[in-house]
Amino acid sequence: MKKSLKRKYAKLLIKQGVNIQKGQQLNISADVEAAEFVALLVEEAYRAGAGYVRVDWSMTQLAKLAYRHCSMKTLCDVPDWQVERAKHDSEILPARIALLCQDPDALASANPEKIARASIAASKKLKPYREAMENKHQWLVCAIPGKAWAKKMFPNDRASVAVEKLWEAILSTVNCYDDNDCIAEWDKKNETFKAKSEWLTEKQFDYLHYKSKNGTDFKCELMKESVWCGGGENTLDGVFFNPNMPTEEIFTTPKKGKCSGRLVSTMPLSVRGTLIDNFYIDFEDGKAVNWHAEKGNEALGKLITTDEGAAMLGELALVPKDSAIAESGLLYYNTLFDENASCHVAIGMGYSSCVKGFENMSLDELHELGVNDSMIHVDFMIGSDDMCITGYKDGVATPIFIDGKWAE
Ligand code: ZN
Ligand code: ZN
Repeated sequence: MKKSLKRKYAKLLIKQGVNIQKGQQLNISADVEAAEFVALLVEEAYRAGAGYVRVDWSMTQLAKLAYRHCSMKTLCDVPDWQVERAKHDSEILPARIALLCQDPDALASANPEKIARASIAASKKLKPYREAMENKHQWLVCAIPGKAWAKKMFPNDRASVAVEKLWEAILSTVNCYDDNDCIAEWDKKNETFKAKSEWLTEKQFDYLHYKSKNGTDFKCELMKESVWCGGGENTLDGVFFNPNMPTEEIFTTPKKGKCSGRLVSTMPLSVRGTLIDNFYIDFEDGKAVNWHAEKGNEALGKLITTDEGAAMLGELALVPKDSAIAESGLLYYNTLFDENASCHVAIGMGYSSCVKGFENMSLDELHELGVNDSMIHVDFMIGSDDMCITGYKDGVATPIFIDGKWAE
């Protein structure tokens, strides 16, 4: 990929993505494979006024070695300096970019028990600081191609060709081309998302009913205070940013403990290096009570039983089957992309920013109201070609999705 286009992409991520503020610190987490692009990103961040840019490097190979050789105890021991660092961040509120490029199956050969327990141990210790930063700083998840990831998506091509193809695919998902004003296009896109989310929020549906001939037949209540969001959002201080690039979803936080019926997955889900495929989950009184996956059933069970909240929903997201990513027909094996090809839900933590008046509520109050709490938040895809979603308010039905597309 041409360097000029990479730079244009870096600028888009810094300006439209995290919207770095003058003097603000930026933290980037990235794999060493992305080093060349990270340098561009750092340069653009300083040009845009960043006070200091910190890069937290990782390397898949080293993670694999650690999982192989370190004891469970060592892996689950979160050192004090890491806690201190999280505390420091929660005080200075840096913007954050998670830059992905890894092979989604990179850790497939590692012990899944070790991966799961280590990540739970870290989330537990760092959760208070993550919560203290919620809605107070800008963050962004975005991606560039890595070799193994590109080869997984384009197995019949040479690595260099596969990487080039993945560059083209990624840049097209974020509307970054040689000859366009991609920032203006994102502004326009954010406007459209705003109109759709406002329409849904004003409807104040009591519940949504999902139906598809693949077996999905599912009802989920919303809170009176549920707000639909999509595209960019504001920090509490009013800094507008786009937390996901790409994004095609309009989403909200449902009322926890208030759903029932069956959800059938329509795309594979890659979790901590394991692929879970062809699965369904049955809900009763808001909780997953029964599930089965043709592939990765054990991993699915582990995920749902991570903690109490992992068996309940934290997100409902609407994506039409004619979204650009869905129409490309590519499977990325990565939620950042694949969630934009299909309607999905997430088990685990709900977004408090999808609640009217959340700014003036404590986390306890939000949980009381019906926002789910968990250490995980994992999306899985349920959209299908014939998916119909109907919203009900005082018994009156309004079609939201018909045959996989927006009803209006
Ligand atoms: Zn989502
Ligand atoms: Zn999600």
